Amino acid sequence: MSGKLAIVVPCYQEEEVLEETSSQLTAVLESLITEQAVSPDSFILFVNDGSTDNTWPIIRKLHDSNKYVCGVNLAGNVGHQNALVAGLSFAVEHSDMTITIDADLQDDINAIREMVKCFNEGKDIVYGVRQNRDSDTWFKRTSAQGYYRMMKFMGVNLVYNHADFRLMSKRALLHLLSFRERNLFLRGMVPTIGYDTSIVYYDRAERFAGESKYPLRKMMTLAFDGITSFSTKPVHLVLYVGVISMFVAFVILCWTLYTWLFKETVPGWASIMISFWFCSGSVLTGLGIVGEYVGKIYIEVKDRPRYNIESILTHEQEN
Ligand code: UDP
Ligand code: MG
Repeated sequence: MSGKLAIVVPCYQEEEVLEETSSQLTAVLESLITEQAVSPDSFILFVNDGSTDNTWPIIRKLHDSNKYVCGVNLAGNVGHQNALVAGLSFAVEHSDMTITIDADLQDDINAIREMVKCFNEGKDIVYGVRQNRDSDTWFKRTSAQGYYRMMKFMGVNLVYNHADFRLMSKRALLHLLSFRERNLFLRGMVPTIGYDTSIVYYDRAERFAGESKYPLRKMMTLAFDGITSFSTKPVHLVLYVGVISMFVAFVILCWTLYTWLFKETVPGWASIMISFWFCSGSVLTGLGIVGEYVGKIYIEVKDRPRYNIESILTHEQEN
């Protein structure tokens, strides 16, 4: 008996791409069903992340006309990572494996076939990894590469060039969903699950239509969450910088005393000002970084729900 597949697609302001995405995913799903690689009651789950455009009406329409399409409508915009968790929490109860994929067709949907094959061979997690970043801007490419290096330095285990295009078995997903944290960085959390994994390589395309919903600000927030949710190294670094700057200040003090006692010239204010600015700068940086962690603890302690569901569309009764 082949397993039941759920393809989870987070959608935020994606009215321009949804119909095309749905028809391409349906084609892949149908051929997988024909080949008996997945069970006939497999489905595609569009998660509307509080879009203000026609995304939800389009999902509703697709649900009416396409027996594979289901939908979850979130009551507000909670961001990509939370929208994924919302979709996965629904999917885990209705499937044996889930694949998460962006709505914009940047990830190669043909990799889905390979992922399912790996699952059927016994893998629990299959990462979709981009072979190249030609479709990205120069800025995104270099900043992403620098980020992976930095995360490695911070001791965080990430799969290089893997975003959120991945297959997970039910048991891997149940484990992921048992993580209670609010500061989500799924691509950092998944490698900590363990189990047997595998990688499928693909070429990342341009966005099919519409604009990126990840402006620089959101990208930086995600990158920052990635660091502060997984590593306390920044706090250690602050300590090192603090100790070093105190040492520098001490050296400057000795030098000033020396020139004052043994030389005619009155030392200039430059050295004092430099050390003043340096010390207060490093203290503020230190406070800022510690503050970021305290802020994270504040969010975690409140333990608020990650999302709220407005409505769900399924074909359960008909299947
Ligand atoms: N997305 C979402 N909520 C948000 C922002 C984005 O669900 O607040 C979805 C979006 O619809 C898409 C995926 O997350 O399916 C990735 O976004 P996008 O393609 O804009 O990011 P990029 O590929 O440019 O990094
Ligand atoms: Mg995209």
